[in-house]
Amino acid sequence: MFRTALLLSALCSPRGGESLARGVRPPGAAMRPARAPLARARVDLLAARDAGDDGELCAATLPTPSWQPPAREQMLERLERDEFDVLVIGGGATGAGVAMDAATRGLRVALIERGDYSSGTSSRSTKLIHGGLRYLAQAFQSKIPPRSILDLIIHLRFEPDYLRIVAADLAERAWMIQSAPFMTRALPMMVPLYRWWEVPLFWIVGTLYDLIAGAGRGVPPSRIVTVEEARFQVPLLRPEDPDGNRLVGGLVIYDGQQNDARMGLHIVLTAIQAGASCANYVQVEGLLDASGVPFAGDGSGDGGAIGGARVRDRRTGKTFHVRAKQVVNACGVFSDAVRQMAQPTAEPMMVPSYGTHVILPDYATSAQMGMVWFTKDGRVLYLLPWEGSAVAGTTDAPGEISFEPRSSDGEVDFILGECNRVVREPLRRDAVRSAWAGIRPLVRKPGAAAGDTKALSRDHVVERLGTAPDALVTIAGGKWTTYRKMAEDAVDVCVAHNPALSHARPCGTLERKLVGSDETGEICDGSFDRLIVTLRDDVGVEADVARHLKFNYGTRALQLVEMARAEPHRFCADDRSGGRARLRRLHAQFPHVDAEVAFACRFEFAQTPSDVLAQRTRLCFLDADAALSVLPRVVEIMAEEKGWTEAHAAQEAEQARVFLEATMRAPRDTIPAAPAGVAVPQAAAV
Ligand SMILES: Cc1cc2nc3c(=O)[nH]c(=O)nc-3n(C[C@H](O)[C@H](O)[C@H](O)COP(=O)(O)OP(=O)(O)OC[C@H]3O[C@@H](n4cnc5c(N)ncnc54)[C@H](O)[C@@H]3O)c2cc1C
Repeated sequence: MFRTALLLSALCSPRGGESLARGVRPPGAAMRPARAPLARARVDLLAARDAGDDGELCAATLPTPSWQPPAREQMLERLERDEFDVLVIGGGATGAGVAMDAATRGLRVALIERGDYSSGTSSRSTKLIHGGLRYLAQAFQSKIPPRSILDLIIHLRFEPDYLRIVAADLAERAWMIQSAPFMTRALPMMVPLYRWWEVPLFWIVGTLYDLIAGAGRGVPPSRIVTVEEARFQVPLLRPEDPDGNRLVGGLVIYDGQQNDARMGLHIVLTAIQAGASCANYVQVEGLLDASGVPFAGDGSGDGGAIGGARVRDRRTGKTFHVRAKQVVNACGVFSDAVRQMAQPTAEPMMVPSYGTHVILPDYATSAQMGMVWFTKDGRVLYLLPWEGSAVAGTTDAPGEISFEPRSSDGEVDFILGECNRVVREPLRRDAVRSAWAGIRPLVRKPGAAAGDTKALSRDHVVERLGTAPDALVTIAGGKWTTYRKMAEDAVDVCVAHNPALSHARPCGTLERKLVGSDETGEICDGSFDRLIVTLRDDVGVEADVARHLKFNYGTRALQLVEMARAEPHRFCADDRSGGRARLRRLHAQFPHVDAEVAFACRFEFAQTPSDVLAQRTRLCFLDADAALSVLPRVVEIMAEEKGWTEAHAAQEAEQARVFLEATMRAPRDTIPAAPAGVAVPQAAAV
């Protein structure tokens, strides 16, 4: 072991760094394994450890993946120079999915995103990969939740459309969980039951959910548990609800969980690996006609024959044309703006619906089990463990379309109040670490009452605007869980109508795994635990940091660590524990490390400090104050990576500060939030 410790210590020492620094490659260059790919010999790492054989342990070192994406600048050049089969506008889950789908069919694909990848709704979800418990309930009940057996019977109905959506979404859940196994997990959630008749009712709900999902559902089956087990699994559970009903048991039901913005990035990376040219901070300002001339958008009602888009690089101000045989609009709640570039008279189809989440400390929920319940007004509320914290939400309210949606104090109080109906120790505003809002891209159904967002379908819509073969195709609605199917449907429509895309292969995404997944099994052999063991035992990464890196980067964690080891003076901590150098943390209470900032700049297209804090590390989603406190360090690392002047760095820091203060901050005061019937003791903490 001593020999291994010496080796590890050397790897993170300045001398080790000097020699390894030569291995640092410019963005875009292929990464070569730093060490021989010995894992191909399928050495069993754990067996080697058990045998206490240092030689075997070293031999079990996993190889570093070799692929890295081209730099943003290279892709901008291609966007300006080449002609593409498909131009995708919007780099959220949907647009990234369309780019991945089209590129893996052999089409030449361009994707542009006006902000950072997944900086819109796709970073602000509940992080669930799910079929939708509410849709399942809505298939059989017109009033949710029923308050008595009589209520239940009176409001019985059968709406097969909802069942169809649940079935389709559960099929996608199964695919999505296995498509990025390093980042997804099956999350058990407890539905607390406070009335005896809810026990058989929710047993039916759970069984139905499992049956619809089928055998290959990718998560364990649901089960009813006793009061004792419910309270053992979720010690915070109230023994009595605010109406005085005693807890009679619980339903444990499973869905998948992910890290949404990082998932979005890995979809973009997978599209790029398949040949797509993608650039963030590039905004569509107008469309081009088939001959490349700015589209008149004359309101003639046709809206077809589109040959690309006039775009602006928001980092440099440069405008240029991207030419493509087919344009796909995947702009989420902003889709109407692009539709109206093609046809100014097009009826708006998007209905924005705000949803807020609050982040609470980890002790607000059980680490292994979330909670889900129906609110009095028929919404579903979640309180879930996520990234070492607890996420609670969400709300459902109409509002203006905005690139910077903000949560209101009222919504934060609503969520806390609802949580306080099921948790024993009341949660107060001062426990809230951050609060953020997202806008659901709901699609208007003909006849739906304005403002009644709960009555709108979550199903997706593929629209062709006009009759020309290359008419603008818009893909909108749906949810994160269904991004792959939405993309498949959108590209199918493009290929079916546009003869210029006839060379496209059939959709192949069901057989695809995302970058970071070790598709060939050469790195982790399908077991990401091996990755954690390698990071901990071979590289000396601390346990929580290793878990964090594995979860968020998959096999790319090895690339990140290799990069950090090459510059120990920047990315390794001075102090050593047990003879090992450690990766330097950004913040003492979080597992994020400095090296992630540089990695985000070099290999993940981060342009601003907000990109790093919001979409790459997620730190500002987890704790707005912690993010503000590390902002100077993030700016310092980025300035070194990008060669910013002092004045430029100060400007970036100020913009990030304003963003964090305005859109992530929890309410400032500490007024307790209490629902009707719950007394909040003044001194109570969580
Ligand atoms: C509160 C909340 C909770 C949710 N929870 C879940 C959940 O747990 N599970 C689930 O499956 N789904 C969930 N959803 C739904 C899911 O998040 C969305 O359906 C999904 O993220 C929408 O992705 P999108 O790509 O269509 O939109 P977006 O992510 O908004 O992407 C659209 C992109 O287009 C870009 N854009 C706009 N205009 C232009 C332009 N002119 N040029 C270039 N780019 C442009 C925007 O910058 C934006 O990034 C939730 C939604 C909300 C609001």
